[in-house]
Amino acid sequence: MSKDSRHVMDPSRLYDADTAHAVEIAERVWWVGHLLDDETFQCHVYLLEQGDQSVLFDPGSVLTFAQTKRKIEEVVPFDAIRYFVCQHQDPDIAAAMPQIDALVTRDDAALITHSRTQVLLKHYGLRLPFWLVDEHHWRIALEDRSLSFVFTPYAHFPGAICSYDEKTGVLFSSDLYGGFTETPALVARDESHFEALRPFHEHYMPSRDVLNFALNRIARHDIEMIAPQHGSIIPRHLVAPITEQLRRLECGIYLFAEEHTDIDRLSRLNATLHEITETMLHIRDFADIAARLLEVVQHNLPAERMDYYALVEGDRLLTLSHEHHDTCPAAEAPADIAAILGKTQAEWEQMHRECGCMREHTLHPGPFCSRPDGHGGLILTLPLFSSARMDAAATIRLNATTHLPHDLALVIRRLAMPLQVALQREVFYRGIEQQRQDAYQRSIRDPLTGLFSRLYMDDVVGRYCAGDSSRERTRVGAVMVDLDRFKRINDRFGHTAGDLVLRQFAERLQCVVGKHDIAVRFGGEEFIVFSIGACKDETARLAEHLRDSIAARPFDIGAERRLQVTASIGIACRLSGESLDGLIQRADAALYLAKRGGRNQVRVAADTPVSQVDPREHPPCA
Ligand code: GH3
Ligand code: MG
Ligand code: MG
Repeated sequence: MSKDSRHVMDPSRLYDADTAHAVEIAERVWWVGHLLDDETFQCHVYLLEQGDQSVLFDPGSVLTFAQTKRKIEEVVPFDAIRYFVCQHQDPDIAAAMPQIDALVTRDDAALITHSRTQVLLKHYGLRLPFWLVDEHHWRIALEDRSLSFVFTPYAHFPGAICSYDEKTGVLFSSDLYGGFTETPALVARDESHFEALRPFHEHYMPSRDVLNFALNRIARHDIEMIAPQHGSIIPRHLVAPITEQLRRLECGIYLFAEEHTDIDRLSRLNATLHEITETMLHIRDFADIAARLLEVVQHNLPAERMDYYALVEGDRLLTLSHEHHDTCPAAEAPADIAAILGKTQAEWEQMHRECGCMREHTLHPGPFCSRPDGHGGLILTLPLFSSARMDAAATIRLNATTHLPHDLALVIRRLAMPLQVALQREVFYRGIEQQRQDAYQRSIRDPLTGLFSRLYMDDVVGRYCAGDSSRERTRVGAVMVDLDRFKRINDRFGHTAGDLVLRQFAERLQCVVGKHDIAVRFGGEEFIVFSIGACKDETARLAEHLRDSIAARPFDIGAERRLQVTASIGIACRLSGESLDGLIQRADAALYLAKRGGRNQVRVAADTPVSQVDPREHPPCA
């Protein structure tokens, strides 16, 4: 027995156990099965030795029973067995029951099972009475231990059970944890054993929900060892990792078997579909989804690339692929894709029958279509319909024109739904992103002049004037402009005329500033241009140029009237470490000097930080 675990054998001592004889796997628990030659589906029988109260689990079939009986008798006389547990009623565990029935001589022997199983087992016409777990509180007391029974309905049969030996912690799990083994191994050695369980559970368990229900029931028990009816015994250290993998398994693979029922093939297909679904669920960025999908498809198809096309608002076409995190800039949808988007399924199918440009297309049931790519390859087009019309399509370029195998057609058809969802989600996210961009543009632009808002100034120029040392020395020239006597324009010609002046002023401003300068509407008729990287001379030249461009030509104020407008300008160049506020205050002080000096002129601020500026000399601008 292993030192740490409760009365179970050290698994490593069982690796090379002689399966020609009974093998003790835990205290008084014996494997008494018989390994059949050339058989991946081995069926195990276990004996719980309890003196004359011994128990035989899932006794076996006519193929194995003679050997099992011989092994039982290596441990106890056959008559020592009082209970025969049939955890369900399949022939590989119960077909030996008539032979057993004939052998049993004692009066107190019984067949332990569930009432649902009894209704089938009774058709063997046995003399043995039934002892039903559901009528005995799911528990039986034996010589030195109790057995409890775990109800695992539908996992292998509606009334299926597992049995748990409370003393050793061995779970007789019947089909659960069963596996297919190419080379029989009595005990699983590592987690790779899960690959033996995968195909067995995928096809034998009807659904992941049913399997997880059973696994949850089992998880309530402290398990030292799992003794399944098929595959290999699972020692404690593998119980948790194998259970975790079982929990994620997609079961019921026959549900999508069409005419084929090859388990390995269906298992591979299942794995592919599972990967596709996981990809869609867990990856957000469409380019990453596309890259992952291409990988998954490449496991099954000689696929070179996949492209996606989706109609977005205003029937604009979005072209996506794994290569671009954004819309593919240069790529345009091929003509046949452009022609089919927006069509209903019936129209699409009709086009294949009638339209000349679709002549080369082969329509596959599902539906999807294929056509030669002109270079020895094949292009598959998978239309993606949302509600009535085709909103999107995916194309898969194959570098072989071989006949499309049935499996691959199935994968392609199954791709449609998750792809549809992924593309719809992408179109939706892009719509939101577009609205966000529009809202941001609105928030950073002044609607009247189109110049930047103060919000934008604070955000962008604020960063140039941030206190960190890398920004310490960034040059920023500020040109603060205020239109002269602007109130009079409103008063004399009306607000609309005032607006016209403001707009034309902004146009002239845009012509003067450089493309990296940031022109901001600071207030009503006050503006600031920030020239990033400009020295004082450059800033002064810009200011003078601007002043001149305003004064040089009159402004059009409607009704064929023209008006001479001037502006006063104050400039300041950012001192080392100066904040945006400090810079603006100094430019404003210079602007005040320009107003006081007679307007239509440029003044330069003193290079004295604002806290040291004498407020009497530089009062805040009105
Ligand atoms: P100063 O030369 O001293 O700057 O005189 P001013 O008349 O230009 O200055 P003041 O600050 O007295 O007046 C500014 C005016 O600008 C008052 C306000 O009604 C007007 N104004 C502010 N925003 C707008 C706008 O969006 N459209 C129009 N038409 N007028 C505006
Ligand atoms: Mg003014
Ligand atoms: Mg003003």
